[in-house]
Order: sequence, then structure tokens, then C-alpha cells
Amino acid sequence: MGTVITPSAVDQFRAIVGSDRVLSEPLERLVYAKDGSMNQGECGLAVLCETTAEVAACVRLAAERGLPIVPRGSGTSLAGSAIPLDGSVVISVARMGRVLSVDPDTPSAWVEPGVLNLDLTAAVAHLGLHYAPDPSSQAACSIGGNVGTNAGGPHCLASGVTAQHILGVEIVLPDGEVLEIGGPAPDPPGYDLRGFIVGGEGTLGIVTKVCVRLTRNPPVVRTLLIDFTALTAAGAAVRDIIAKGVIPAAMEMMDRTMTRAVEAFVHAGLPVDAAAVLLVELDGTAAQVAADTAVVERICRESGASHIRVAADEAERALFWKARKNAFGACARIAPNYYLHDCVVPRTRLVEVLAAIEEIAARNDLVIMNVFHAGDGNLHPLISFDRRDDAQVTRVLQAGREIIEVCMRVGGTLSGEHGIGMEKRDFMPLQFSPADLDAQARSREAFDPEGRMNPRKVLPAGSKCGDLSFPHDALPEGTWI
Ligand SMILES: Cc1cc2nc3c(=O)[nH]c(=O)nc-3n(C[C@H](O)[C@H](O)[C@H](O)COP(=O)(O)OP(=O)(O)OC[C@H]3O[C@@H](n4cnc5c(N)ncnc54)[C@H](O)[C@@H]3O)c2cc1C
Repeated sequence: MGTVITPSAVDQFRAIVGSDRVLSEPLERLVYAKDGSMNQGECGLAVLCETTAEVAACVRLAAERGLPIVPRGSGTSLAGSAIPLDGSVVISVARMGRVLSVDPDTPSAWVEPGVLNLDLTAAVAHLGLHYAPDPSSQAACSIGGNVGTNAGGPHCLASGVTAQHILGVEIVLPDGEVLEIGGPAPDPPGYDLRGFIVGGEGTLGIVTKVCVRLTRNPPVVRTLLIDFTALTAAGAAVRDIIAKGVIPAAMEMMDRTMTRAVEAFVHAGLPVDAAAVLLVELDGTAAQVAADTAVVERICRESGASHIRVAADEAERALFWKARKNAFGACARIAPNYYLHDCVVPRTRLVEVLAAIEEIAARNDLVIMNVFHAGDGNLHPLISFDRRDDAQVTRVLQAGREIIEVCMRVGGTLSGEHGIGMEKRDFMPLQFSPADLDAQARSREAFDPEGRMNPRKVLPAGSKCGDLSFPHDALPEGTWI
């Protein structure tokens, strides 16, 4: 049964943040019932907080009244992790958007969770610094959301994903207590709980401040656009480049269908006849970049690259990246909906997995496009479809499961960056044993014994999770696709 939020509870939330920041009308709640995935839930109430004190007071009130909570940043999650199920209270921290302090020497910064990823980099650019993790959604997604999902991005290949760039957090626990974990000091004593909070998908508390590591801009950057006549040849080039000891700053791949959709949208001059396009970025000192470029060019030619184009200037480089980062949006040119997977496979198995995905697409009579962080083996097979066609939806789900099973068979993982949320949670037993899931459930329970934080996310229905009180039952009818 759905959550009941009484008029007196609504009044109490209004007393904390003011009437204009409590959204209770059906249309307002509908906006907060969705995220960047294709799913929809039910939002009981949305509360827009602007300070840690407000968040803590709202969380305490929800605890007193036994209400479930979903923390929310920008709502761009691709795993349905920001979707409230069964009428939860959504607590948005999108308005907490200040960069609080920057220390150029460490270099690090304290920021509020609603700061947009790209705005953080813009705020420190005059210091020759940037925030390294760069999800393709970086113009829209928040640092708090990046912490929630342990976000990745094209430039995480050499620099690591969000977890490597979070030094500390302030978090409001499910009972309203405010805790500071970690900070800029090296090697904080005690258990390092940052690794648990980062990627917690809003199930452990609401992050209200973040201490981020900043990265110095490299002296030289070179960006190459390389086209191949076979997808598997591009996959082999990726494998061989890393095997030769060159770790590019970024190494992204798009297949032909995706390249054509993106080119029609962005007009970047992409090679639309290529079977696959590799976007490789190298950075460092001039000597290092020159040496790495020579290795990348040689391996790509040996693997069958037909053409290598080097970005002539910053404008052309920006255009290449605009093309890559607009790939998901460009898919609307193919069909109205997409179902996106996020598995990671060992680079050495990329070639066979790409071939298997082609076969799955053909057998299920579906268009599956590939755009992905090739360097880390983080695949994004994107199944294009029209949800009004029930038969097609059945094939989409079947193909999705087959893709995940192929990736698991070669030693892959379920998610590289988007998280588990509601979309991938019932696949968790493919990767984890009951004992693993049990340990994860008990760790979660230590933070949230009542199971009110983002319920029914991450941990699967029906898994052996001890006798915990929070629900692991099936997702509510109608929320999934
Ligand atoms: C076009 C497009 C491209 C994308 N590209 C990438 C990509 O390259 N790499 C990548 O990793 N992701 C990508 N994403 C997915 C998404 O942008 C990321 O997962 C991002 O980190 C979500 O941030 P958000 O602010 O939108 O968070 P939300 O969607 O609002 O929330 C995501 C999760 O974090 C939790 N959360 C949010 N804020 C807080 C907080 N303050 N405290 C605790 N928990 C919180 C939520 O409860 C939820 O579980 C893409 C999405 C789109 C639409």
C-alpha cells in the first residue's frame, strides 16, 4: 500500500521550509516521480531544502512520522535510483548550489550537493584547476547526485571515478543526525566510511556538503578521432593501446548507428560511413603526448583504422566532445524510448562481447546502439524502442537480460557508473551470492534500521537479506517500463 502523507504532515514540512518549497499538487509531484531513466513512480510530496538545518529537520520529521524519503539532486539518474516508489517524500537538495570554499594548494573545495558538475569546473577554471569526473550529463547533474551514484565519465579512465575524488562529506542520517565523514586531511583515522557513502544511491542518508579533490589542468591535450571499418577492430585497438601501457585521458567509442544519429544532431563532421569511431584524448607534457600519440596511431592503423583526424584547435576538440556527450539525446532520432545498460567487461573480452551484442540485436529484431567508455570496458548498449509496442517491449527486456548475462559470463559487472537503482536491482543475484547480499543489507541497516531511505532500491526482491525490516519485495506495478 502507498504511503499516506496527511495534511498535518504537509503543514509541518511547510513550517520548516516555507509553503512555496513544499510541492503537493499532482502535476508538481509528477515531475518528481521521474528521473532520467524510462521509469515512473509515485511522489507523495516534494520538499525543496536550502540548508543542512532544513534537511535535518525534514528528515527528523519524516522519522517521527515513519515516512520514506528519496534524496534527489538533478534527477538525471539512468537507473531509476531517484524515483520515489509508493508515495515517498522526495527531499531535493538541488537548491543547495554554493561553492563554499576553494583551497588551490591542496587542491580541494567544499561544495553544496546541488552544485552542477560543470559549474564546479567553471568555478575553479581561473586557478588552472578542474573537477575530473565528467559524466556526459555534467551540464545538468549535481555533485551530490554524482556522490550518490559514484558517477563516471569519459575522463575517468586515467583519473578514476567519483570515489577517487571525494575527500569528505557532511551527511544527514535517516534519524536526522548530522555527521561529517573524512575531509581534506590525508588518511583520516578510523574506518573510512566515504567508500560506503559514495555510490550509496541515497539509501544511507542525504549528503549536504562535499569536499572534492580538484585536479590541475594538463599542459598539453591532444584529441584524435579515429574511424574503423569494423566494430571489433576498434575494440581490439582499445585493448592493445592499454596493453602497451598507454592510458589515455579518455577513450570513447561509438558504433555506426550511433555515429549517424549524433552527426545528424550535432553536425561535428563525424565519419558516418565508419563501422566504429574512437575518440581518444591524450594529455600530459608535450613529450609524453607526442610519444603516446605515436603509439595510439600505430596500434590503430595496425588494427585497421581507415582514417585518423587530430582536432586542429580547442574549438574542434569541443565539437568532438559535444558530439560524444550528446549521444543519448540524439537517440530520439531513432525511436522515442531507450533502455540503457551499463555493464563493465574486461577489456580483453571487449571484441567478443561487442560481437555477442550484435547477435542479440539481430536475433531479437532490435536496434541496439553502442556508445561507451571503451577504455574502461564500460559498455552502454542502448536498446532503441517504442514503448507503445508491447511485443517490442518484451523483446527489449529479453535482449537486456541476455546482454547482462553475456557480460557476467566474461567476468563483468552490472554497472560501471549509473548504479543499480530500481532498474538493475533484480539482476544483483547474477553478480552477488546470498552471503554478499546479506552483508550489504546488514551494512545498510546499520545506517537505516527502519529502511526508510530510498526503499526498494539497490538490494533485490526476494534475496536472502537476513530478517531486516525494510522491504525487499517486488517493485510496485507499473513503475518498470
Ligand atoms: C544524457 C545523460 C548522460 C549521462 N552520462 C553519464 C555518464 O557519462 N556517467 C555517469 O556516471 N552517469 C551519467 N548519467 C547518469 C546521471 O547523470 C548520473 O548518475 C548523475 O550522477 C546523477 O546526478 P543527479 O544530480 O541527477 O542525481 P539524481 O538523479 O537526482 O540522484 C541519483 C541518485 O543519487 C541519490 N542522491 C542524489 N543527491 C543526493 C544527495 N545529496 N545525498 C545522497 N544521495 C543523493 C539519489 O537518491 C539517487 O539514488 C547520464 C545521464 C543522462 C541523462
